[in-house]
Amino acid sequence: MKTNRIERALALADTTKNLVIESGAINKIDTVFRKEFAASSAIVIADTNTYAAAGDAVYSALEGAGINIEAPFIFPGTPRLHADLERVTELKAHLNSHQAIPVAVGSGTINDITKFACTQLRRPYMIVATAASMDGYTSFGASISHAGFKKNVPCTAPRAVLADLEVLGNAPDEMITWGYGDLLSKVIAGADWILADELEIEQIDQDAWSMVMDPLPEWVSNPEGVKEKDPKVISNVLEGLVVTGLAMQVAKSSRVAAGSDHIIGHLWEMEELTTNKGEHIPHGLFIGVGTVVAAALYDVLLQYDLAELDIKQASSSWKSFEQVANEVNKIFDQPYMIEQALEECRAKYINQQVLEDRLQLLKDRWYRIKKRLKTQLMSAGELQDRLRRAGAMTSPSGFGVNASALRKYYLQGLRVRNRYTILDLLDETGLLENTLNKILTGDGFWAGIEP
Ligand SMILES: [Zn+2]
Repeated sequence: MKTNRIERALALADTTKNLVIESGAINKIDTVFRKEFAASSAIVIADTNTYAAAGDAVYSALEGAGINIEAPFIFPGTPRLHADLERVTELKAHLNSHQAIPVAVGSGTINDITKFACTQLRRPYMIVATAASMDGYTSFGASISHAGFKKNVPCTAPRAVLADLEVLGNAPDEMITWGYGDLLSKVIAGADWILADELEIEQIDQDAWSMVMDPLPEWVSNPEGVKEKDPKVISNVLEGLVVTGLAMQVAKSSRVAAGSDHIIGHLWEMEELTTNKGEHIPHGLFIGVGTVVAAALYDVLLQYDLAELDIKQASSSWKSFEQVANEVNKIFDQPYMIEQALEECRAKYINQQVLEDRLQLLKDRWYRIKKRLKTQLMSAGELQDRLRRAGAMTSPSGFGVNASALRKYYLQGLRVRNRYTILDLLDETGLLENTLNKILTGDGFWAGIEP
């Protein structure tokens, strides 16, 4: 069943054509390489850590199989390597001196640097995953920072992905918990997509949806296995993360992977919030917490009876774009964030007539929407419990966010991106403030959280 699922996903995806997840997969690297790149020569890209983890074995396997191979290109692994523009430029300059196909060996950072460099050089590449840590392996974007600003830039996904379960099992213990959080977020991404679909804003792509949402319950079913690094669970989590990227290729959108969970998590990532001990926090931990934060909104939404919504009242308190712009200036500090949020808000701003039509749809379809959401969702408490059992971070207090700061992040999440989510629905119905009060005060889910 699993093999069928992967084959079907590969047949639909437009860039990634080869995916091997198994124990001893590195022994197949020459077969995969020759199938995808014929007689091209190869070059291993890694940092000192990932080279030790698998780069050396990959190099030997390619060389031993008689494939022409350049000397490996190895970034320093300490201090922690960042996916920034300088690194991309460095790699590009090196790759320009030959035509070898990059075989990246690593996880998020190495993959992003190689993906971006190869996109600019119009050269295909493949990745050997060293950890089940995030959902970016097969996505068509790379997260690159430049001048202190992290941006997701459109890129060409890898032609092939190879994941050796022994290598994944030897990754630092916590990395699988990051991947688990990133995977769990698809629960919310799906719920937000249901809203956008029902309100005729962004239709669900059925292929991409089934690729991710059908197997999702199985992929996330064993948080204890994540903590224990059970090989079957590692394989499931990696499959989920990689197939999510393939689904993005199918839908030509990251919608299937990212909703309000990623939008909120990304705000913390941009601010580079750290643990209370000052430690760096990786993508998947922020996203796992972002998932619980977004789920708390759904817990409250499901208590409302929107079939009884007063459309005139909601419409009469609808903000003008000028009022939105004022709010944006108030809730963001950094000029580049204000600029970005204004652009996104302008793109998604609707007038009162469009609003009223949308609210009418919401009213008419509420019971069906509610039913679909209930099938898709888990409660904030359930999601938080799974993260806890997996050994991941479970609360924004883990990186210094208290209840009043959390309110600000909810409001920023509404304004920072032109992607319809539960935050927009609550804003458009006029229920956002009431919902945030229910979450952040009294016996609300996040009431009284303190770092
Ligand atoms: Zn992610």
